[in-house]
Amino acid sequence: MVKVRFAPSPTGFLHIGGARTALFNWMYARAQNGKFVLRIEDTDQQRSKKEYEEEILRSMKWLGLDWDELHYQSHRFDLYRDMAQKLVDEGKAYKDGEAILLKTLKDDIKIYDLIRGEINFDTSNFVVRGEDGGVELDEHNQPKLKDEVLIKGDGSPDYNFCCVIDDALMEISCVVRGEDHISNTPKQILIYKALGFKIPKFAHLPLIMAEDGTRMSKRMGAVAVSDYKEQGFLPDALVNYLMLLGWSPGNNQEIVTLQQAIKNFSIKKVNKAAAAFSMEKLRWINGQYIKQTDTEKLTELLIPFLEKANYINQDFDRQGLKSIVELFKVRLSTLTEFLEWTDFIFHDKLQFDPEAKEKHLSQDRSKEFNLLINNFKQVENYDAISCEEAFKKTVGELGIKPGELVHPLRVALTGKAMGPSLFDIVAILGKERTIERLNSALKTDS
Ligand code: GLU
Repeated sequence: MVKVRFAPSPTGFLHIGGARTALFNWMYARAQNGKFVLRIEDTDQQRSKKEYEEEILRSMKWLGLDWDELHYQSHRFDLYRDMAQKLVDEGKAYKDGEAILLKTLKDDIKIYDLIRGEINFDTSNFVVRGEDGGVELDEHNQPKLKDEVLIKGDGSPDYNFCCVIDDALMEISCVVRGEDHISNTPKQILIYKALGFKIPKFAHLPLIMAEDGTRMSKRMGAVAVSDYKEQGFLPDALVNYLMLLGWSPGNNQEIVTLQQAIKNFSIKKVNKAAAAFSMEKLRWINGQYIKQTDTEKLTELLIPFLEKANYINQDFDRQGLKSIVELFKVRLSTLTEFLEWTDFIFHDKLQFDPEAKEKHLSQDRSKEFNLLINNFKQVENYDAISCEEAFKKTVGELGIKPGELVHPLRVALTGKAMGPSLFDIVAILGKERTIERLNSALKTDS
């Protein structure tokens, strides 16, 4: 049976790379009707924090990556110590103060990696170097091999040791993790061999590079899953994007739900080459998911953002909000962009785009705006269609082309040069606010 695990250390938030590792493990398990284990590697008691652990679980749930088993390494310290003692008793390990180290023997180690094929290591390369950088020699004048720490001087077990014990006892069939762990693998194999455990398969996922070709890091802005949530990315869209970092569903398909992905996911089809993170693509995918979300649900998702930005308070007009969401949803790549598009609806004071103002409101519009105000005043049923009729009537009376008045009107009402259908906006603002804004545009002109 396929049994895989995601093993984050709660020494930081769940970041994009970790989430991709979790996702590939999850897809592998679900595609094979196997099990997915979440193991919190909290052995480093100084650096592990409860808040990080909670955030990791929260982000996993938000992404929709459910687990079949949850383990904490901090609950298993006795087991690790017993195992280390067993190796000491068998003469395979030795004590050095509080620490316990495994004797490293000369060995050729082969691992079979499902993504990279065979990888060979020679433990003769694990040498001890002196302060001058030179290789130290043993009593037979052979390079001294570096012994593997199992239990550290402070009594806490080392990552490689716990990882092996847990992967073996939890019956993990394949260890799927980031490429940065390849160098740990031979050390772990030595521990498997010493403990007489069956060695699992391995699959090391390609690194995720930032757009400039360097490794993804905090310098690049958002790296934590929670940052993406805050910026208004939808979990399904983020998951969809992450699955494309190293895997492809084929046929150049880019919009793939988790349910579709698990039908044809294969860990062997994962690329070896590093994957490049593209914010532009993520935003595009997010926009596709936003468009597909029904307006009612999208409105619910937007409410916390609107509340946080003080756009609405408790007694807002839900029906009204839904029609605004309907109007803007095709333009959004993130939920937070809704705030940028709609500030003019929720705030009385307009923020003018200076270029738009200069281009469309700098000349005297008093004749046009005054006539528009009169004609809008007469509209009884103030909806988009009637407002458009009032507008057409106005341009007819002025003998000008609609295009000459559309832009000044949009800028006067919204402060922006672009946006959705102008008459939908006029209707959403309502008669009173439309007239007020036209009047104040007249004032600033004069
Ligand atoms: N706790 C390790 C990490 O977060 C896990 C490595 C592994 O998957 O073996 O990097």
